[in-house]
Amino acid sequence: MAATALSASGVRWDLSDLEPDAETARRDWDELLARARAFAEKHRGTIGSAGPAGLRALLDELDELSEDASRVHFYARAREHTEATDAETNDLATLARDRAADLENLLLFAELEWLALEDAEAEALLASPELAPYEHKLRVAREEKPYVLGEPEEQALNARRPAVSAWESLHGRQLATLTVEFDAGQGPEPHTIDRLLAYLYSPERPLRLAAVDALYAGLAPRADVLASCYDALVGDRLAVDRLRGVPEPMLPTNMRNELDGEVVETMMRAVEEHYPLGRRWFERKAALLGLDRLALADQYAPVGQERETEWPEAVAIVEGALRDFEPRLAEIFRACLDRGHVDAEPRPGKAGGAYCNAVSAKVLPFVLLNYTDKLRDVVTLAHEFGHATHGTLALGRQTYRSFRTGLAVAEIPSTFTQLLTVERLLEREEEPSTRASLLADRAETAMASIFRQTVLARFEQKAYALRGEGKALTSDRLAEVWLAENEAYYGDSLELPEGYRLGWSYIPHFVHVRFYTYAYVFAHLVAFSLLARWRADPAAFTPAYLEFLAAGGSRSPRDLLAPLGVDLRDPRAWADAFAEFDRCVREAEAGADELAAA
Ligand SMILES: [Zn+2]
Repeated sequence: MAATALSASGVRWDLSDLEPDAETARRDWDELLARARAFAEKHRGTIGSAGPAGLRALLDELDELSEDASRVHFYARAREHTEATDAETNDLATLARDRAADLENLLLFAELEWLALEDAEAEALLASPELAPYEHKLRVAREEKPYVLGEPEEQALNARRPAVSAWESLHGRQLATLTVEFDAGQGPEPHTIDRLLAYLYSPERPLRLAAVDALYAGLAPRADVLASCYDALVGDRLAVDRLRGVPEPMLPTNMRNELDGEVVETMMRAVEEHYPLGRRWFERKAALLGLDRLALADQYAPVGQERETEWPEAVAIVEGALRDFEPRLAEIFRACLDRGHVDAEPRPGKAGGAYCNAVSAKVLPFVLLNYTDKLRDVVTLAHEFGHATHGTLALGRQTYRSFRTGLAVAEIPSTFTQLLTVERLLEREEEPSTRASLLADRAETAMASIFRQTVLARFEQKAYALRGEGKALTSDRLAEVWLAENEAYYGDSLELPEGYRLGWSYIPHFVHVRFYTYAYVFAHLVAFSLLARWRADPAAFTPAYLEFLAAGGSRSPRDLLAPLGVDLRDPRAWADAFAEFDRCVREAEAGADELAAA
């Protein structure tokens, strides 16, 4: 049968809400830099003497400048992500990166002067009602004060950023250009990493096993370069930490997430105590697949039968889930679709994966995904609209400086919306094999973000500790740490192939943002708690949840979550989440039983 076009073909971004064309974008960059220069001339040296009303006016001006820059910058990035091979796009993207760095350096003084104030002066300003819309973020910024250097030092650190990110680029290029000759049944063909990984969802076991072997065989010749990139980045981060006096490699991430190290550690320990829940599922799944023991390649093997889901149905499902929860959220979804802010069509020259960018209060968010007619793509669409609804409501209520949260909180609405959508799919699905597939997928998604990301965060902790002791992060050393951390999770329930020693080598988060990994753990656990609360009392939960969305980053995670009944200071805070997790696994097991009986 001839391949038919995917159902989301033609669902592409219309970028005209950002800029009409590249020419205008270039002119806007010039204008932004002129405004930033004028701003710096007028305000440099005045932060301490402006008084509450003066500081408010200054921050409002700065906020508008940042918001306009966000729009112009995203126009370049959006083009880069959808037409990577276009020459005009590449020139514009380069210009945007340079101009954004110039802009940041011009405006840096404002942040540094704010930090330079004495505590008493800062407190007096923060107590004034004029500064209320900025209060929380201004306070959080001052917590970094002990680790911030002087303006020339900070500018020098900024200036070397392109050289540091060259390691990230090299790592990315090593992976993006890697192709492996692989025969999936139609003769040998060059395969990218993503294409090989897609076979892990194949119902054919020999294909899954062969794809995993091919992946690691393909990575092996590049392992030294990949390890060197990681070693250089970790070494650099630790060197900058030493300059800044940062005592602990997780601290910068924890500060950005506004979470205490203790809260994160308590959470990760609680997760580790629940690893047997994952192993129980692996054993159940082995039995279902008729195996004595699961191999790594079987971890995501399909249970039951997924069904094709075309784009219009996906839109209807997500819109319906949002509308039943709260009509305001469905309106945001509809508006984004109608204004061409969703790019769902997979095509050459477009970025992989999925993301949402809440650009500015004046523009609706933009969502990118690659829709391949799978039920799991519906879940991705829901996830991104968790971000989009959060961004829209927060930008509607907060200043630009205050709308954004740390990564850990940012992933809560996306995960929650994804869970809501799966509930809706399950309510409407009668076919036992599709139900079994949905239930297994929900449980395995939770395991991937809660268990596996904890394994990943522990791996990072060990790697930073070793590098901190002066040990080079060679491929062999990373393999040793990687296998030890993975065995703590999988135990005997799953067989790890020889090649898995290279499992660390292609994970982008390690390279781009240290300890990003635990944000997924935190968010999935909180989203599970929220789902349980919503089910228990939707009338009380929904308004509190909308308030949480609209609050954006204007309060600490603790204060944001308390009205939703999640107390981060309480070590038992995670008990509800694990009860919900356990329910998911039990329902997946019941789905598997139903399937086995059919
Ligand atoms: Zn997300």
